[in-house]
Amino acid sequence: MKVFSFIQSTKRVLKVGNIIKEQFMVLNLTRIFYISFLVVFIHLAHLLFFAFHDAFGDPIVESWRIGNIVGHAFMMVFMIIISFCAYMIKKREKYNEKLLLYFTQLVALSYLLFGVIMVTIDQLIKPSNTAFLLVVVFVGIILIIPPILAISNYIIMYVIYYFSVGFTQMTPELLLSVRVSGLTSIGIGIGVAIVLWHNHSLQLTQKHRIEIQNKRLERTNKKLIYYANYDPLTGLYNRMKFMTFVKIELERMKKKDRPLACLLIIDIDQFKRINDNYGHPVGDYVLKKIAAIIQDTVNDIGISARLGGEEFIILLPDKTVDEGVSVAESIRIKLQQATFEVNSLKINCTASFGVAPLLSLGKDSFNISYTAADKALYIAKNSGRNSVMVSTI
Ligand code: GH3
Ligand code: MG
Ligand code: MG
Repeated sequence: MKVFSFIQSTKRVLKVGNIIKEQFMVLNLTRIFYISFLVVFIHLAHLLFFAFHDAFGDPIVESWRIGNIVGHAFMMVFMIIISFCAYMIKKREKYNEKLLLYFTQLVALSYLLFGVIMVTIDQLIKPSNTAFLLVVVFVGIILIIPPILAISNYIIMYVIYYFSVGFTQMTPELLLSVRVSGLTSIGIGIGVAIVLWHNHSLQLTQKHRIEIQNKRLERTNKKLIYYANYDPLTGLYNRMKFMTFVKIELERMKKKDRPLACLLIIDIDQFKRINDNYGHPVGDYVLKKIAAIIQDTVNDIGISARLGGEEFIILLPDKTVDEGVSVAESIRIKLQQATFEVNSLKINCTASFGVAPLLSLGKDSFNISYTAADKALYIAKNSGRNSVMVSTI
């Protein structure tokens, strides 16, 4: 059971890692680019050490010395080329995931092979596997490679290592020791690769999840802001937002010598019939169209909002009651002449209007004006609808 759950969680880790594999590869690219400078310097230092070492005429030591010089010189040039390639890839706007993986693999395998060659050369003078152990740990820490790939890299390299050290290590027990040490090295390498892959996977997955959640929150926030200010059916401002405009206007009016503003209330006539005859969705469609006509008419001169149901309100800053009446008349005529076509139905409707001035009368200014406009609307309804009535305060 435990083994089964271990396999499951391992699978999960590998799968999670796959989602963000591209991010790993981009990280590898950045690491390769920066680490290459350090590595070139290290190879140069090795090269100089070996270049100035005296072999005292011993041909074996001399071969070992030359081998090291050639190996480090080769890797130094190789890493300069690699850092240039990394720079060129980094410059691209879009990364190719496969290319990044191949590039990472090229660097990893080259270094592991370099370790194998160095250990093979070292066997000329000592039974050491330090070079291999170092590159194994180096590759394991620096490059984040999918575990399956990392394991195959290390196994392939160990096979090469196994046979390669056989060419230069002639003492059987030392050869055995070096081969065993090599096995330990790849064991460490595999361990490091898996642990780091797991940790990075978790970290990046967490980051990925947080990013997704943040995006979701941003979207929800935008929606909330929208619903706090607008009526979702008609797209007009809602009552709450309308009131903030009224407050701003009343503040503005306080500072004026001749404050002027006008309030219009609109109520669609017999709207219930439209719902009853054609259904609620058709009613909704008509409401949207009516709202668009209202909005179009007052777009530049005032602020319109949906009060609720089939009632709308308009604030006309700097307008007299007479000017308010002519705006109301213009909307009334547009509505009367409009034919709303929906599902091959042709629907006509009219509206009644109440107009009142908005005066700067302290904190009750709006309520006084609203009550007056509502009264006028009531009169319009009672005098046969489809008309504009005015109320003075
Ligand atoms: P009146 O001329 O006296 O104003 O008649 P009316 O039928 O318009 O008045 P009433 O207030 O009795 O009815 C308003 C109707 O508006 C009732 C309701 O079904 C409808 N209504 C309110 N909100 C909505 C809405 O969001 N969508 C739709 N389709 N209908 C709505
Ligand atoms: Mg009504
Ligand atoms: Mg109505």
